[in-house]
Amino acid sequence: MRIATLFRVLRSRSRAPLSLLHTVASRSFCQLLYRPERPSFGIAFDIDGVIIRGHTPIGGSQQALRRLYGDCGMLKIPFVFLTNGGGVPESKRASELSELLGVNILPLQVVQGHSPFKNLAKSRYENQLVVAVGKGEPATVMFEYGFKNVLSIDEYSSYFDGIDPLSQFKNWEINGEIKKRSTSKEITARHNIFSERVKAVFIVSDSVDWSRDIQVLCDILRTGGLPGRENGQQPRLYFANDDLEYQGAFPSERLGMGAFRIALESIFNRIHPHALEYTCFGKPNPFVFKNAEAVLRQVQLSSHHDHQAVNNGLAGGHPFRTLYMIGDNPLVDIKGARQAGHPWFSILTRTGVFRGKENHAEFPADLVVDTVEEAMDYILRKEFS
Ligand SMILES: [Mg+2]
Repeated sequence: MRIATLFRVLRSRSRAPLSLLHTVASRSFCQLLYRPERPSFGIAFDIDGVIIRGHTPIGGSQQALRRLYGDCGMLKIPFVFLTNGGGVPESKRASELSELLGVNILPLQVVQGHSPFKNLAKSRYENQLVVAVGKGEPATVMFEYGFKNVLSIDEYSSYFDGIDPLSQFKNWEINGEIKKRSTSKEITARHNIFSERVKAVFIVSDSVDWSRDIQVLCDILRTGGLPGRENGQQPRLYFANDDLEYQGAFPSERLGMGAFRIALESIFNRIHPHALEYTCFGKPNPFVFKNAEAVLRQVQLSSHHDHQAVNNGLAGGHPFRTLYMIGDNPLVDIKGARQAGHPWFSILTRTGVFRGKENHAEFPADLVVDTVEEAMDYILRKEFS
């Protein structure tokens, strides 16, 4: 069907605005014609220090990403963002990145530090009371993963008078997440917060108020999930990543979730007879790279319109010859890719944490480049020459 005919058919059956119909018609037409070959490689991009710094694209990232799309903006080469960051649902992060970078990014293509928490909702904590910590919308993230009884630490703390002895000196506003989620109100109506044990704590993103969070977490963890009561068995504690430092907008590195973990652990171990137990997700955990490979296969299938295979979970069939990990942090991105082994190939950029002239001494990458754009030149040259 010619595009003009397709457009007329759509127009006659719909009340949608002309411009929208034209976009839909053009894309559908493109999809009919555009059948790129499935490439045998995929790419995982770290975000902070590679693609953006703060909220500014760096290293020619916009141009680099555009090269992964073919005619009509259809994805030609499968890629994901593999970040230890987070704090917002994958769908929201995908639309933020799409706007910032000028390409169409699917929620499926965003793998955040806390994405693996999703797997714990169904299997362990679906209806159990859990507390979510961190900047952004930690409780919304967890609720969307299927945790039905989750409270942010902001909201949880607000029920306990005097739990933060410094609160009167903190004159900032608690974010709007509490007000936004009517589900929280339903939860508190259904349960008595003072008698229901917290079964697990999830550090979803960077703690905003270390002093309050360390105090309240010590309360929850030492008492078996009932602050103010006697000591009990420690609830499970999960961190979305263990990054000591990361590259933000400031010229030198900032303290990350790993630094918060060290502070919490040091204090907990001084006030409690048993050492703190916890699980860290995020890079360089090899599990993250295995998962990224599976997601890249799904992206590959979905970009080649093999929706039935995606729906049936048929992620096999077309293994990748090479998977490129492009990162700025040797201890996280490069160490992780090296540990994951074949088919991972690590590329280290100089736009973030790493600034060295030569390769990193302890965790050398397979390739060191200045920017992500240079990394893309190398990959496309190697794959298509
Ligand atoms: Mg980084």
